[in-house]
Amino acid sequence: MSDPVKIGVLGADGRMGRAVVKAISRNARATLTAALTAPNAATLGKDAGTVAGIEPCGVLMSDDIAAGLADCDVLIDFSRPQAAIDTVLAMHGTKCQTFVTGTTGYSDTEAKALTEAAGGITLLQSGNFSLGVNLLEVLVEHAARALGPDWDIDIAEQHHKHKIDSPSGTALMLGEAAAKGRGKTLSDIRAPIRELSDAPRKDGDIGFSAIRGGDIIGVHDVHFINPLETLMLSHRAGDRSLFAVGAVTAALWAVQQKAGRYTMRDVLGL
Ligand code: NAP
Repeated sequence: MSDPVKIGVLGADGRMGRAVVKAISRNARATLTAALTAPNAATLGKDAGTVAGIEPCGVLMSDDIAAGLADCDVLIDFSRPQAAIDTVLAMHGTKCQTFVTGTTGYSDTEAKALTEAAGGITLLQSGNFSLGVNLLEVLVEHAARALGPDWDIDIAEQHHKHKIDSPSGTALMLGEAAAKGRGKTLSDIRAPIRELSDAPRKDGDIGFSAIRGGDIIGVHDVHFINPLETLMLSHRAGDRSLFAVGAVTAALWAVQQKAGRYTMRDVLGL
């Protein structure tokens, strides 16, 4: 058997980062070689395994991105948009040329900065690493194409109360898929935020709503509504490990690809 792939985690002490550290420890094809977090984080210097609630693994939490990159084949990121951009910029000229990111909440400017920073790097980005959601994305695109613009599309999502961005990256992925089914891009047909607009709903627009509370891991409901009937396509995430295992699978796949931009649909062959 070949040597395990050396994986670093950016945001290793966050909710998702800890789940990824656990998922790596359970995968014989992967080994954790760097656990990176924010400067001044309370976990700096602690064992990443202990922080993740598993056996100590000998990798200490660090904010030294250059040292971390020197020891990895691929980096998995669940942190913040600016941290992801800065880290991809730091990857140029290092041994680590593959970046797998699940971070969401990019502004348009940040999304552009990530794209520019990633030139020449293997970048795999997904708002959701689950098989179910990626298949749902395909189904939503088909449904939007088949049903046509007479059906209103509204996407409702629910997450835990600590989630910062809204709508979720997954909701935006699903919205983009619905827009594609309509032969458009989401930015052209995204309905205005209802609290900020008293204009009636425009035909063909795609709307979003979000609930934040408790420890909900992720619920997404895509509603297709016309005056006579409603169709709903849904996904419920049962455990955060779902995304972590998917991200590790994606990292093991991405590290073998040429430089370029990929999504989870490429990994899953959807
Ligand atoms: P979280 O618990 O807040 O974790 C984020 C981590 O990143 C924290 O440990 C934070 O440290 C760290 N961080 C902040 N600034 C950093 C920097 N400059 N360098 C390195 N690390 C830094 O959030 P989460 O729930 O794990 O979610 C993280 C991201 O993943 C969010 O954008 C979320 O929406 C997304 N997400 C994606 C998926 C998916 O499947 N794609 C699934 C779930 C979540 P401090 O706490 O010290 O600031």
